[in-house]
Amino acid sequence: MNEAPGRLLRPEIAGLRAYEAESAAGLVKLDANENPYPPPPEVMERIASAAAGLALNRYPDPEAAGLRTLLAARSGWRPEGILLGNGSDELIQLLLAACGGERATLLVPTPTFSMYRHIALTMGWSVEEVPLTASFGLDEPALSSRAAACRPRLTVFASPNNPTGNLFDHGVMERYLRKVDGIVVIDEAYHDFACGSVVELLPRHQNLVVLQTLSKIGLAALRLGVLLAEPRLVREINKVRLPYNVSSFSQAATRAVLGAPDFLREQVRILLAERARIADALARLPGVAAYPSDANFILFRTGRPSREVFEELRRQGVLVRDLGGEPGPLERCLRVTVGTPAENDAFLGAMGGIFGAEQAATLIKSE
Ligand code: PMP
Repeated sequence: MNEAPGRLLRPEIAGLRAYEAESAAGLVKLDANENPYPPPPEVMERIASAAAGLALNRYPDPEAAGLRTLLAARSGWRPEGILLGNGSDELIQLLLAACGGERATLLVPTPTFSMYRHIALTMGWSVEEVPLTASFGLDEPALSSRAAACRPRLTVFASPNNPTGNLFDHGVMERYLRKVDGIVVIDEAYHDFACGSVVELLPRHQNLVVLQTLSKIGLAALRLGVLLAEPRLVREINKVRLPYNVSSFSQAATRAVLGAPDFLREQVRILLAERARIADALARLPGVAAYPSDANFILFRTGRPSREVFEELRRQGVLVRDLGGEPGPLERCLRVTVGTPAENDAFLGAMGGIFGAEQAATLIKSE
């Protein structure tokens, strides 16, 4: 085939870039908002014995009934109102497939998680973006007027938001839910690190879909996303799900973990204490401003081009996420995941080296 293959595909695909992750080989990995702690050995043993008992020649339980019951108890919502995905990424794709059709509109406040836009564009949706306020909150008047003009089939609020780290105001989201016809997704990927959840809003709003994931709490390898909504809506969305989308291994391993979940609470406690310690240390560095976080990562801005800071940190053995290459609200921003105390020390040590007292001239704390 000598011709460009793009000719054979949907024209939007040519303008997209495949998701790429930086190699973390040999580096302290603080770039992907993962939990740095694996499960303890006794939980790994439970997982291993659950795996040993699997019938690998059989398809998985298509309804993942046992796992949904455990997740219902964990989230305080009914098992019939729960749908599982191969990560919440798949659930986003599933929602777009269920609500869409060519030229349907997705509305997102920005900056936010890039996959909403990416997946929507691959499926022929148009994407409308409403900028967050200067403090990264929802701009209620701007959202309302844009929604009235473009009538979105789907709106997604990530709360806590990635990469800004903050929770959005429940009052603003509830008023928006009442105002629009379309489905409103509140993506709570980071809710384990925040106070409260919007699951309590589900009984009041039939157009609300809540997404959660086990990726950030320490099970990213299992790829388990959780959708919670009114059971009748879940039954409809379930028609779009491919059969057997959650493997027998993921189901069994997650059940083994959720059967003895106390260690997760302890890990979250340590990570929250470390988040406060990193925020404190960054606030004391001249030329660095950190944003408040309700998640397991911290967004920070410096006076230098973010690529330079990223490369310097990488040279010192620490991998973070560079978000600041483009002009706009994230210019000169980077995102660091909260790691173990030793990993965080490596990050803070490297930052101290880059932004020592001699950088005081670029002090930007007042921004
Ligand atoms: N939503 C948000 C806001 C995220 O930050 C991420 C992961 N970066 C996801 C969803 C995807 O999570 P999962 O691993 O469950 O696909």
